[in-house]
Parts: sequence; C-alpha cells; structure tokens
Amino acid sequence: MAAMAAAATLMSATSSILRRSALLRPHGLQVPRRFPRQRFVRHIASSTNEEAAAKAAAATADIGGPTIFDKIIAKEIPSSVVYEDEKVLAFRDINPQAPVHVIVIPKVRDGLTGLDKAEPRHAEILGQLLYTVKVVAEKEGVADGYRVVINNGAEGCQSVYHLHLHVLGGRQMKWPPG
Ligand code: 5GP
Repeated sequence: MAAMAAAATLMSATSSILRRSALLRPHGLQVPRRFPRQRFVRHIASSTNEEAAAKAAAATADIGGPTIFDKIIAKEIPSSVVYEDEKVLAFRDINPQAPVHVIVIPKVRDGLTGLDKAEPRHAEILGQLLYTVKVVAEKEGVADGYRVVINNGAEGCQSVYHLHLHVLGGRQMKWPPG
C-alpha cells in the first residue's frame, strides 16, 4: 500500500512539473534555442589530411598559442639554418616541396599568427622578411628563379600559425599552383 501511495505522489508531482513547464514554454517542452539557426555552412574541401590538419590548426589560430616554430627559434628542436640575424630566422623545410625549400620567419611573432593579422606596426618586419627571401635565394643559388609563398588561413592551407614565407626553387614552377 505504502509503495502504491508513493508512486501516486510521484506521478502527481511529475505531471504538475510538466504542466508548469508547458505554461512557461507555450511551444511545449522544447528547450529554447540559445543561438540563432546557422544560415549557411561553408563547405571547404577536406579531401586530404593536409587540409584537415590546416582546418584543425586554424581552429586554435586566434588563441595565438606557441607553435613548433617557437621551439625551432629557441633551438629546442634542431633545424638546418640557412640565415639568421637578430630578427629573422630562415631554415630548411622538414618536408621540402622543391630542391630548395626554405622557411623564413620573424623571431618574435608579435601577433603575426598569419599575414591577415598584419598591422601598420608590422611593416618593418614584413619588409625584413621579404628582403631575407632575396638573401636566401642568393645563398641557395636560385636567385634567377624561385617562388615565394605565404599560406594564410585554413583555405590557404596554412598549418603553422606563426607567419612564415616559403622560398621554393631549384625546379621549374608551374601555374596555377594548385
Ligand atoms: P604552412 O603549411 O603553415 O604554410 O607551412 C608550414 C611548414 O612548416 C610546412 O611546409 C612544414 O613542412 C614545415 N614544418 C612543420 N614542422 C616543421 C619542423 O619541425 N621543422 C621544419 N624544418 N619544418 C617544419
């Protein structure tokens, strides 16, 4: 008997809660939507691991956390340095896409996770990076023809969020680059 009474009390309490919920939410028991429905979704091709990695890296880009390049600058991990001065470091890419493939970076990122973060105060270091490309191309013996690439953002296939210039040479380049 006691069990039946307890069950009846529980059912009564539950239906009371449900009735009050319905009154508070005229559209029934649906939980109100906190965010507006997304109008459209951008579909970015994700056919390769490289693109997926670029998108994953982009998700953390704005946080501006340390990258592998910080460890290269600090010489915590080895790299083949081609050129170095107070502000700029140039080293061979670990996964070269051409016989000459050198990465040129600012030693202090100063918010430059990518080129899209550039502000007027960065003009000097941006110029130094570009000038370093010319120095690197001469040192590497490709001054007559080479390509300079800056991948920016997920769609630009950027994977390391510390501004860098790729210097590619030593083979015939093609266009469009793909
Ligand atoms: P992104 O894809 O961001 O334009 O270029 C990042 C580049 O950094 C890639 O070409 C990649 O091969 C290179 N890279 C990533 N990690 C390392 C590393 O530990 N050492 C060197 N030397 N290059 C790296």
